[in-house]
Amino acid sequence: MVFCRDEVTRLRAIVAIHDTTLGPGLGGIRMREYASDAEALTDVLRLSQAMSLKASLAGLDFGGGKAVIIGVPPASSRAELFRALGRFIDSLGGRYVPTEDLGTYTVDIERLRETSRFGVGVSETLGGGGDPSPMTAWGVFCGLRAAVEAAGLEPGIHGKRVVVQGIGKVGFALVRLLIDAGAEAAVSDVDAARLEAAKALGARVVANESVHLERCDVLSPCATGALLNERTIPELGCRIVAGGANNQLETLDDDDRLAARGILYAPDFAINAGGLINVADELGPGGYDRSRALATTEAIEPTLRAIFSESKRTGIPPGRIALRMARERIDARRGSSH
Ligand code: NAD
Repeated sequence: MVFCRDEVTRLRAIVAIHDTTLGPGLGGIRMREYASDAEALTDVLRLSQAMSLKASLAGLDFGGGKAVIIGVPPASSRAELFRALGRFIDSLGGRYVPTEDLGTYTVDIERLRETSRFGVGVSETLGGGGDPSPMTAWGVFCGLRAAVEAAGLEPGIHGKRVVVQGIGKVGFALVRLLIDAGAEAAVSDVDAARLEAAKALGARVVANESVHLERCDVLSPCATGALLNERTIPELGCRIVAGGANNQLETLDDDDRLAARGILYAPDFAINAGGLINVADELGPGGYDRSRALATTEAIEPTLRAIFSESKRTGIPPGRIALRMARERIDARRGSSH
């Protein structure tokens, strides 16, 4: 862990590198207000672990890393703040490779790259793959097809009722895909302007505080983490949970709670790997290749099928199965390097 503080821009950030067995820690920079530094620390630690698991399960040779910026700066100092963070990240010598996440954008990564040799998710004109969020949304969409089948619903997305919490970069792109495929989409967010934009696409708006109560086929968390917990799970109105957010479960016990209620959970780090795949591709042979990133992202669907069928066979909930599969690959690599 590295604590970063810059007096000029008032940057306060934490970088966490969780595991580098498979390769450098790759993961986004989250920027938001936190109730306390302890909350930010918990967030970055949990997120960096999720990135290790995600990269492993997607077959990528990257480890897990993440950064959080504590608090949102005024627009006037934003560019300088990302340059300041870039200096810290550069000093890690490539052990952590950042990209965007909740609250950060392609342009922020481009500012950061002015002071850091490391950073992916830069725009196409600079040789990158651009904003990874549409690829994340596409991976979630592909994964949804597997979840719908595993839950015993009629195959396909057409006519399914899907409630998306958080219609930012990932959620909004997902809502567009869902509506194009003939799903009935409902949305919630804390940002009224975003809700208006989703309404214009044809989505219904529901109250964010009670989003988990909505009766639907799929609840799709695409905002912050821990929507699924001891309090919300008994009240869920959905058949499936499948979304883009990281760390949707508050604790691993919530995986068991969902299974006990007969709700199919698509493990977050399995279904939301599209963006990671897209940014990792920038560092692949020959640089960014969109068709290669797309093919790897679409493999999320068979990966989820394998998780669901193993879960059915063993009676172990899907989150625990995905965790085991991700850890096995890391352990095998660790074993072979000794
Ligand atoms: P974003 O900042 O673009 O969007 C987040 C949205 O959630 C915003 O509209 C915001 O207003 C809303 N929101 C924030 N707090 C909320 C709350 N308490 N209740 C309801 N809505 C709330 O972020 P994003 O990049 O779309 O990321 C969304 C989630 O997906 C995050 O958990 C992120 O870690 C995860 N994720 C993102 C990517 C990616 O490619 N961007 C990849 C994998 C996972």
